Amino acid sequence: MALRFYNTLTQKVEEFAPADGRTVRMYTCGPTVWNFVHVGNLRTFTFQDLLRRWLRARGWALDHVMNLTDVDDRIIREAAAAGKSIYDYTGPYTQAFLDDAATLRLERPERLVKATDHIPEMVEAIRGLGEKGFTYESEGSIYFSVARFPDYGKLSHSDFGGMKAGARVDTDRYDKTDARDFALWKARKEGEHSWDSPIGAGRPGWHIECSVMSMKYLGETLDIHAGGVDLTFPHHENEIAQSEALTGKPFARFWLHSEHLMLGEEVMSKSLGNFYTLRDLIGMGYTPEAIRYLLASVPYRKQLNFTFDGLKAAATAIERLRNFEWRLKNEKFAGGDDQALAARAARALRKFDESLDDDLNTAQALAAVFEYVRDANTAMDAGVFGAANRDRALELVDRFDSVFDVLRPAAMLDHKTVAPGAGRVTITGYAPEVSISDHQTAISDQEIERLVAGRSAARQARDFKRADQIRAELAGRGVILEDTREGIRWKRK
Ligand SMILES: [Zn+2]
Repeated sequence: MALRFYNTLTQKVEEFAPADGRTVRMYTCGPTVWNFVHVGNLRTFTFQDLLRRWLRARGWALDHVMNLTDVDDRIIREAAAAGKSIYDYTGPYTQAFLDDAATLRLERPERLVKATDHIPEMVEAIRGLGEKGFTYESEGSIYFSVARFPDYGKLSHSDFGGMKAGARVDTDRYDKTDARDFALWKARKEGEHSWDSPIGAGRPGWHIECSVMSMKYLGETLDIHAGGVDLTFPHHENEIAQSEALTGKPFARFWLHSEHLMLGEEVMSKSLGNFYTLRDLIGMGYTPEAIRYLLASVPYRKQLNFTFDGLKAAATAIERLRNFEWRLKNEKFAGGDDQALAARAARALRKFDESLDDDLNTAQALAAVFEYVRDANTAMDAGVFGAANRDRALELVDRFDSVFDVLRPAAMLDHKTVAPGAGRVTITGYAPEVSISDHQTAISDQEIERLVAGRSAARQARDFKRADQIRAELAGRGVILEDTREGIRWKRK
């Protein structure tokens, strides 16, 4: 079965291939850099990271554009309250987002673009819409006339037929009951940041920026447009209206939307005040790997209930896989090859691939891996795991980690940039504010034993650099090693 996704536009699961048969041209709505992102936002970005990795695993090249919204109602309000320019206000939050993304091992898209770098192109698009008769002016602001675009509502599958023509909204975010003509260009207000332009002094609305930046870099019809489900209406509906009114062509072939992260009964959100940032969770002692695993473990179109038990279970799952990988790499296995087990490894690998091909069903992919790990551990304990079984098992572990990327302990990585595109991500470190060694003190005995064993194996292999790294990691987490005549002893500080 080929790779397929649920397409919000058609409400069907459809086979996916890029239009040119080679490169996936993908646009994802990035963060509004008015504050720290929370883990609800990061669920969406983690989904997009898995999507990137799996598209590449299936042989496609990627051209992925993500925007950074660095001007909108909230930014203008908060910057003014702080007595700063919007640039001084958004700069640190932009950097914080990039750091958080690197901490969660999210690959950097091929292009990250800022709204404020594209104001002339937005003005041009608004003028183009005006020439085609889709806009009108009121008190210096320019609105998109929804009544002129009969397809309005085709993404959110809503019938806006009864909508009153000419009724307008000025805010960027509103719900379906407020479906109205929306602002493309907002007239300058006293004390607000604005740009002078041929269409008057003002600033762009939120929606036009995504239409303009996506089409500038990716062409008039994108292969994939993705975002959180809360963006379906009005944001993505408005993007379609603007773009298709301008070009007369379909704006995006596939629309992928990830579901909410729930905290109890409610959606995790800034406006409700019920949220955790990545920094909060790391400060509480949870590792980035556990957070990433939890966010990735539930298929993106299902709601995910965020709980601390869930985070602990994620840490345990990672531990099981690390232990398994450690056994594969360090234990001695009798010769031969258990045929039944070899067949099970092949089946697990096939099921892993098929599950991700099936609209990124991560839960099923993980089930395939864990089922095999259980069987293989049992075979190792019984002494029937053959040396030749090891290669297939390692292949499965590598396949898993090329997508989920949680096996390398964060504290051992030492750079900070996530390279775009090719191969495995290299991450290297943390936001300066986050000191992992201060936070990761809650290390289990099992984890210590694993690291100590890993250090011994490294020393035996004369890999002293690695051995020293492990010692340093343990020290950073409050564990001291002593080399004694009986072997290595460890104690907590
Ligand atoms: Zn957008």
